[in-house]
Amino acid sequence: MTDTTGRVAVITGASSGIGAATARALAAEGYRVALLARRADRIQALADELGDGAIAIEADVTDRDSVVAAATRVQSELGGVDVLVNNAGTMLLGPFSSQQRADYRAMVEVNLLGAITATEVFLDQLKDGGGDLINISSVAGRTARAGNGVYAATKWAMNGWSESLRQELLPDVRVTLIEPGVVDTELPTHITHEETRAAVQKGYDTAKVKPEEVAEIIAFVLARPRHLAIHEVLLRPADQLG
Ligand code: NDP
Repeated sequence: MTDTTGRVAVITGASSGIGAATARALAAEGYRVALLARRADRIQALADELGDGAIAIEADVTDRDSVVAAATRVQSELGGVDVLVNNAGTMLLGPFSSQQRADYRAMVEVNLLGAITATEVFLDQLKDGGGDLINISSVAGRTARAGNGVYAATKWAMNGWSESLRQELLPDVRVTLIEPGVVDTELPTHITHEETRAAVQKGYDTAKVKPEEVAEIIAFVLARPRHLAIHEVLLRPADQLG
């Protein structure tokens, strides 16, 4: 097992859902955590809950300057990062049309470019002493369905990018892709296409898999001894077909 006491994890999108649950799980394993998101009140409340060793940093992954400022704080206040969890994401589903073009840009900028930006900004810190990169992809990174094309495209792209990084960064940095199916979070509430939001929300209203269960898997992956890397975890609710 890797001794996780005192390791430092940076989690993007830590203000809700899988990111917040991951912060709680890693803090419970002895990590110090830097919580990044745009909703400053939420991450501050979580940092207060987690106590010493948790810091909240308001940052937007589409704004590189804010990510650079976050990296400077992590270096000076926590001594650098050991684990980066690229979790920030948005799932703006709907039929493909020009009406949705702002959503397409947002998904590419947050889900794909945001993860790429956070990684290039934190890379030197990650390489310094053996790091871990966790990329939160999706089942949508393995399958595509009508109505989820651009979201799926961002996650497929993340998968290809992760595999390339895995080869480039080994053995200093272990790269892991997490690909969840439906998880009970606020993710569908941001869908702008009303009909789609209502339909997707129905599926989420009965979602059985909780963000804490995904967080537990992330903590397990990270705790493996350094000679062992788990590169991909695909998980679904047991009754999810596609
Ligand atoms: P949530 O909506 O609860 O979390 C999304 C997080 O991303 C929020 O903390 C939000 O914080 C953050 N975020 C969004 N835009 C930005 C931005 N520009 N800069 C920084 N942070 C941002 O949903 P989930 O927890 O479900 O989603 C987390 C990840 O898991 C996403 O990548 C999603 O695609 C993936 N996923 C989720 C699944 C699910 O069924 N729930 C299934 C498969 C994958 P804030 O708004 O405060 O900035």
